[in-house]
Order: sequence, then structure tokens, then C-alpha cells
Amino acid sequence: MTTLSTIYWNANAAATVAPSVVTRPRHTPGVKLTHEERMVKSDQHKFGLCSDCDAGLDDRADFVVGKHATYTRLLCNDCSAYYAQACTALRVQRFLKSIDGVDVCDM
Ligand SMILES: [Zn+2]
Repeated sequence: MTTLSTIYWNANAAATVAPSVVTRPRHTPGVKLTHEERMVKSDQHKFGLCSDCDAGLDDRADFVVGKHATYTRLLCNDCSAYYAQACTALRVQRFLKSIDGVDVCDM
């Protein structure tokens, strides 16, 4: 099923990841349910839902905990892997730009 949010995520992910460097993972973060649907589904899972997609979290091994200054969020393993790979791609892209003598501040 393709939704607007999926299209949004794919478009933005493609814009920041160099396709020649990284093979995009099969899982792409994106919330497809409405707020109410997420609230209902969240009650059906022990740890609630992934903060970046609608995956239900029933096992502690299913997710990682992201701690930020003002909030804590639960990220499923697939989303976590996605961001780790996207970050690596961005670093590679910046490195390639830097050795090319191009200003990296415009990213
Ligand atoms: Zn997720």
C-alpha cells in the first residue's frame, strides 16, 4: 500500500542518499495511520508503537530507545537500521564533497 507519507519519505530519503553509494534498505520509516488509529493500535502492543512507523512493539528486542534532551522515543530495529544507513550515506557524501573541494555547508 502506498500512501502520501510513504511517498514523502521515499522522495526525501532519495534526495539525501547517494544511490551509487548505498543500497536503500527495504524498510522506510513513515507513519501511515491516523493519530486515533495509532492510539488504538498502541494499546494492543506491550511497548506501544515505533515512533517513526506503525510497527507494534511487543518484545524488548524489537526496538531501540532513543533519548533526546526533552523526550524519549522508541524506534523499531528496521527504522533504526534505516537511519544508521542513511547517516552513513550522508557522511560518505559529505566526505566525497569535501575531497572534491566543494563547500559542504549547503547540505
Ligand atoms: Zn519503525
